[in-house]
Amino acid sequence: MTLAQHGAIVIGAGVAGLSTALYLQRAGVAVAVIDPLGPAGGASFGNAGLLSPDTAVPIALPGMLRKVPGWLTDPLSPLSVRPSYFPRALPWLLRWIESGRLSRVLAISDAMRALHRESLGCWQELLGPALYRDLIRPVGQVQVWEGAADTANAVVERQVRERHGIRCEELNADDLGQMFPGIAREVTRGLLVPGNGFTVSPQRSVQTLGELFLQEGGVLINERAMKLIPCEGGGWMVMTNVANRSAEHVVIAAGAWSGQLLDPLGIKVALETERGYHAMLFSPEVMPALPISNKTRAFGVTPMEDGLRVAGTVEISGLDAPPNEERAKILVQHARRMFPALTGAQVRYWMGFRPSTPDSLPILGAAPDRPGLHLVFGHGHFGMTGGPPSGRMVARLITGQAPGIDPTPYAAQRFR
Ligand SMILES: Cc1cc2nc3c(=O)[nH]c(=O)nc-3n(C[C@H](O)[C@H](O)[C@H](O)COP(=O)(O)OP(=O)(O)OC[C@H]3O[C@@H](n4cnc5c(N)ncnc54)[C@H](O)[C@@H]3O)c2cc1C
Repeated sequence: MTLAQHGAIVIGAGVAGLSTALYLQRAGVAVAVIDPLGPAGGASFGNAGLLSPDTAVPIALPGMLRKVPGWLTDPLSPLSVRPSYFPRALPWLLRWIESGRLSRVLAISDAMRALHRESLGCWQELLGPALYRDLIRPVGQVQVWEGAADTANAVVERQVRERHGIRCEELNADDLGQMFPGIAREVTRGLLVPGNGFTVSPQRSVQTLGELFLQEGGVLINERAMKLIPCEGGGWMVMTNVANRSAEHVVIAAGAWSGQLLDPLGIKVALETERGYHAMLFSPEVMPALPISNKTRAFGVTPMEDGLRVAGTVEISGLDAPPNEERAKILVQHARRMFPALTGAQVRYWMGFRPSTPDSLPILGAAPDRPGLHLVFGHGHFGMTGGPPSGRMVARLITGQAPGIDPTPYAAQRFR
């Protein structure tokens, strides 16, 4: 079949694909990235921008089973499953509940920690010092709670932090009032995690990866990959909507859509989309200095260069259902409750598709039994954090270098 045109083709120009593409290119591989939307057109556009090397708590935690009936009956709860989609999501949900057993949670948290702790270092490597200073704020994050009661999973979260020696500082209502003038008095407790940080613009951060990729000789192709076909004698052909493109290596980094490219090859992965929303408040009356995650109401606010981003919620209803903007409106209500001075800001609503696995770990490395095909997707709630270290690890595996992190916990084979 056709001679390989590129050393590697990366499918998807989100944070995962562009990180992989840049690391591969810097290791001497000629790389093309294919994406009809260009850089940051997917989940990487509108996430909350939290960069969390010191976060190692998976999403599925003990005791989730009893919450399932509530998710099905309340479409506006922080986590909802559209009833008509429930039968399709069921196998994934069962695996998700299984991942929430304490013994699994601790093993998963070890793998999350191994990947996430490299996050800020990888962003710095990818962006270089000046762009890193412009885009990234390694200044901490704060979690807060309302009232005296612990959330159900506080004990597990504490256990994970202690297991990994993660530094944190407890805050009372007075501390919070000083750090965040105007915060409601019902927010009574907080935790500062100084090792975490955020980006002032997820969109610009990922677009900057795209610009660096182009400046350093990469090729960006605005096409949709339709099917992957193995070539006789090695390599792959990517049939796109308008062309056939071939390469020795193909990397699937198509976020929540990655499973659609693997299905025709008979490779099944446990990938579901947890849709999430943001409300962007432009010219807000309040701008906290650090991101705040409200654990009682399951939402967060992040100070960004173009306003205050209120983000959160999980909605399991597949890739095709239209957005439910009511979920984004609730985020605004939550933010106004936490900061009553937030009254008149102009708002933009957005929905994005988190590419999620049941165990909160991405799927990284070689595709099973398919030489030359590689996987970098499934980062769920943590792609801005885990995308760059994942890209580095997979680029090292492809170019025959030591991966730096044990790749075993992220292998696709774990779902067989
Ligand atoms: C509301 C919300 C808040 C979040 N907050 C955070 C946070 O604070 N911190 C954090 O670390 N993570 C956060 N995340 C998660 C993070 O945004 C994702 O994990 C991450 O963006 C996934 O990156 P990706 O590159 O895998 O996918 P995407 O960014 O979705 O990119 C996938 C790309 O693949 C392309 N594509 C799809 N199919 C094809 C095809 N057939 N051919 C070619 N291209 C294709 C798409 O066009 C898209 O550009 C949040 C997510 C949401 C929704």
